[in-house]
Formats: sequence, structure tokens, C-alpha cells
Amino acid sequence: AKDRGRARLEQFNDELHARAEKRMRIESDLRAALREQQLFVEYQPQVRLKDGCVVGVEALVRWRHPEHGVIPPGDFIPVAEECGLIVKLGREVLKESCRQLAEWANQMPDRSLAMTVNVSPRQIAEPNFIAELREVLSETGIDPTALCLEVTESMMMSARQEVIEVLERVRQLGVFIAIDDFGTEHSSLSRLRDMPAEVLKIDRSFIDGLSSEPGDTAIVSSILSLAYAMGKHTIAEGVETREQAAILLRMGCEVAQGYFFSRPVAADKIAPMLSTALWQ
Ligand code: C2E
Ligand code: CA
Ligand code: CA
Ligand code: CA
Repeated sequence: AKDRGRARLEQFNDELHARAEKRMRIESDLRAALREQQLFVEYQPQVRLKDGCVVGVEALVRWRHPEHGVIPPGDFIPVAEECGLIVKLGREVLKESCRQLAEWANQMPDRSLAMTVNVSPRQIAEPNFIAELREVLSETGIDPTALCLEVTESMMMSARQEVIEVLERVRQLGVFIAIDDFGTEHSSLSRLRDMPAEVLKIDRSFIDGLSSEPGDTAIVSSILSLAYAMGKHTIAEGVETREQAAILLRMGCEVAQGYFFSRPVAADKIAPMLSTALWQ
């Protein structure tokens, strides 16, 4: 039994070691990626349910690795957060997304479009965050009210007062704030009321069971009435079927995004989607 215990401990150590090594490899590759501009941004349309119009896009970062091909953010964002590279990465994504929004605004002056960008807690906690945001706004000339920053519910609810104050300054610039993955944490209602956020983004896990799980339907419907009562907007994420879209429309959800409408795509695929309805 002792031997077996030792063998298991060794295996555990090997695994820890392998994981640490993998993490270090990702970190050094990511450093090179930032230097050599291997990161790029895709955009997923956000659709107004009542008429199928694309009203905005969410910017989602990807990494074109020289050996491993395109790597999804779930495989490197956590490492970037841990080692602090997220600050530089987030800055690049914000700049590129705003530059892209300015380009669309120039090409289509009559068409208003919102840009949503994910930001991480470490990025917001940087002393320069507000100054950099102002700089991006003034350099690109975009309408600040066309920009929305997304922070996760878990980050929002555990945030220190200083971070909330930064978010309040973001709001003062006119930029909107959305709470991502909403419903996955147990937000206290009083805390939610005091948050400088005007959009709740309903987590994909509840949309999955919309037609089949009565519990999920109840959760989505209570998030929608909560949002309505608090004067906040709603976006449903992860809509994969027409049925889910129809249920959300019937329940009063304003905007949705998901594979049913479109996957995240390269910037040049967005313009053609702006002149048609993505569903009726
Ligand atoms: P998220 O912000 O919750 O983004 C939504 C994720 O769901 C995206 O995955 C998107 O491609 C995927 N998705 C969209 N529609 C559907 C659908 O209908 N079905 C399913 N199954 N999935 C759908 P992605 O692009 O792999 O991003 C994963 C996460 O990485 C994001 O989750 C976000 O937390 C993070 N992330 C992405 N880009 C950035 C960034 O620039 N900065 C930061 N800090 N985090 C980012
Ligand atoms: Ca998001
Ligand atoms: Ca989300
Ligand atoms: Ca998520």
C-alpha cells in the first residue's frame, strides 16, 4: 500500500511538473506572439431579435501559432491573466477593435454599430487604464457610446471598490459596461443595483436548456424581468437554434448572439451581414 501511495504521489508530481512546463511554454510563446503580431480578432454579430438586424459585434481574440495553428482564447487567456501579459494583450485587442469600428463607421456612416470588448480584472486595475481608454477613443474618433466593455459577473461581484470606481469613470466617458456570464454567480440584488453596468449578458449555460429544461427557462425569464425592473438591457449568448431565438423573443429578450446567427468571423465578413436580417 505504501508503494502504491508513493507511485501515486510521483504521478501527481509528474503531472504538476508537466502542467508547469506547459504553462511556461505558453507564456514564452505568448510573449513572442505579442511581439510578432500573431494575435488577431474575430467578431461575432449581435442580433436584435425583433427584426434580425445586426446591432453590434463582440470582439474575440485568437492566436495564430506558428506551429500549432489557430489557438482559442480559452487555452491562453488564463495563462495571460496569471503572468500579467493580459494587460498588453487586452490593450492590443481594444485598440484593434476600436480601429475596426472606426473603419466600419467611415464606410457606413448611416449604419450604427456597437463594439463589445472583453476586459480582464488585471487590465482594469492598471493605473493607466482610463488614460489609455481615452487615448484610444480620441485616436480612433469613435463614438464612446458605441463601445461596450464586458466584465464577468464573478469579477464584478468580487471587485474591490477601486475597480468599481474605475468602471464608474468608464461610464463617465460614455462607454457602456456589460456583465458577462450573468446568472452563473449569485449576485446580490443590492450590489447589482449599485453596479455601473447597463447590460446583462445571460450565460450560455441557461440558453442551452431553454426548450428542454423548465429550470433554465425559469432562470432566463427571471433574469429578463430583473433586468427590465432595473432598467438594464439584455443579451442572450450561445443561441444555437431557431427555437431558442423564438423563445427569447417571446420572453422579451432584446438582443442575442450565437452560432444560430453566425460564428465569430473575420472583420471583412461583417459588412455583408449589415444589410440583411440574420433571421425572421
Ligand atoms: P465569452 O466572453 O463568454 O465569449 C463567448 C464564447 O462563446 C466565445 O468563445 C464564442 O466563440 C463562443 N460562442 C459564441 N456563440 C456560441 C454558440 O452558439 N455556442 C457555443 N457553444 N459557443 C458560442 P471563444 O471565442 O473561444 O472565447 C472564450 C472566452 O475567452 C470568452 O468567453 C472570453 O471570456 C475570453 N476572451 C476572448 N477574447 C478575449 C479578450 O480579448 N480579452 C479577454 N480578457 N478575454 C477574452
Ligand atoms: Ca464576453
Ligand atoms: Ca459570456
Ligand atoms: Ca463564458
